[in-house]
Amino acid sequence: MTTESNGVSKLKTPEIKFTKIFINGQFIDSVSGKKFETIDPRTGEMVTQVAEGDKEDVDIAVKAAREAFDHGKWPRMSGFERGRILFKLADLIDQHGEELAMLDSIDAGKLLHITRAFDIPFAANCFRYYGGAADKIHGETLKCAGEFQAYTLKEPVGVVGHIIPWNFPTVLFAAKAAAALAAGCTMVVKPAEQSPLSALYLAHLAKEAGIPYGVINVITGYGPTAGAAIASHMDVDAVSFTGSTEVGKLVMGAAAASNLKIVSLELGGKNPLIIFSDADIDMAVQTAWQAVFFNQGEMCFAGSRVYVQEGIYDEFMKKAIENAKNWVVGDPFDPQVHQGPQVNKEQFDKVLRYIESGKREGATLLTGGKAIGEKGYYIEPTIFTDVKEDMLIAKDEIFGPVMSIMKFQTIEEAIEKANNTRYGLAAGIVTNDLNIANRVSRSVRAGMIWINCYLITDINIPFGGYKMSGFGKDSGLQGMEKYLKVKSVITPIQNSPW
Ligand code: NAD
Repeated sequence: MTTESNGVSKLKTPEIKFTKIFINGQFIDSVSGKKFETIDPRTGEMVTQVAEGDKEDVDIAVKAAREAFDHGKWPRMSGFERGRILFKLADLIDQHGEELAMLDSIDAGKLLHITRAFDIPFAANCFRYYGGAADKIHGETLKCAGEFQAYTLKEPVGVVGHIIPWNFPTVLFAAKAAAALAAGCTMVVKPAEQSPLSALYLAHLAKEAGIPYGVINVITGYGPTAGAAIASHMDVDAVSFTGSTEVGKLVMGAAAASNLKIVSLELGGKNPLIIFSDADIDMAVQTAWQAVFFNQGEMCFAGSRVYVQEGIYDEFMKKAIENAKNWVVGDPFDPQVHQGPQVNKEQFDKVLRYIESGKREGATLLTGGKAIGEKGYYIEPTIFTDVKEDMLIAKDEIFGPVMSIMKFQTIEEAIEKANNTRYGLAAGIVTNDLNIANRVSRSVRAGMIWINCYLITDINIPFGGYKMSGFGKDSGLQGMEKYLKVKSVITPIQNSPW
């Protein structure tokens, strides 16, 4: 493994234009005037200070969003017109993709070349996809018993609170905001405190695109203050949350205790990747590798429980070790690098604690296991074998570059083990046997199944979990449905023979 690009002397830092909260089309200081630091995970040093929004700021933002919903033109304009503006925003995201990619890389340690190639086009396409859907929202006409007829209207739910994590800041902002905007909602967005910069930049681009003031408001700040204020606000009609299962429960509790706002939760995962012995071994190793180590392992859908059928177990190990030798960990701005730093010290320490627990509980450390360098939050890609189902590294979401490998013999055993988790976000199957692929797909309780691939996603594919990975989909048309309410209208119809 090469670690030389972990040097900090020639690190790039993007220009940072927006650091204040965004309400009603203006960048303003928070009511308290307080600020918090965003940290460059490459060095642990401050990037900039950002306004720290709290309950008072959320109140002002919700008021602006409420006014824009109750009296503004956004929910009232034609879907076609909303779509036209969303297309414009998509083009602006493409045009400013370099700045956005840099902001996510400096905030979250994401690889710049990947953010540029994947996150930014994906985000732009969210606005194109939902822009195209905005004028195709319609209800049904219904024939009733007796002399009545009915029709349904699909109406925007109102003011939406979006609370998002730090691992895909631009993508998650775009997926949530685009769907809600197409539906005609207005919103308050709270980006993660670790990665607030791209959300502010996107708010600026939304203004440039012509989204009316008050429709999008962005409150930067902490979860227990600003985030909790959104979840418990009496005038927020729906909250769409992506983050940990632990905080998801708090959000749902706050929604229940306040105004019963609609809740959708995209939460954690401990996803199984099942590799059958008939699989192409090289493809299987590559698939497993990407499933765990892409984005520093900071993925809710990381395939971190790898089940390998016994016939190919030893060969799989050998090839996995080979892979580790060619894997470059270092500065995310360097195009030769495969893995950047973990997002912050807290996550870095947490991942290292899990690695220690794996050793303590008796798993075999095949490769990795250590931090890299003196500065920044770099961790070696780490693989454990001989992992038992009851070990912490097999049960908990680590959210870092740690693969746990387990052996299995039969398809029944694989299915049982795959389902032996409180989560149900995603799963992967690698096999050349179509029947095995189909049988396992139907048997695993997860919202997304990849067969002979992993991580592949598109804005038109609904994404969301089973069990404690949450409910309600992002992406696809279902991602927009959750921002729409159905109203039934019934009228008499007389003397109609039909
Ligand atoms: P987190 O739950 O700590 O934070 C997520 C967001 O919630 C942040 O904006 C945070 O400020 C806010 N928050 C924290 N406490 C809050 C509270 N009491 N009330 C309201 N909001 C609060 O998660 P994280 O560490 O930022 O992200 C990692 C987690 O997110 C992982 O568990 C991961 O699996 C999950 N995730 C899920 C998906 C998905 O689509 N299912 C996608 C990305 C990340």
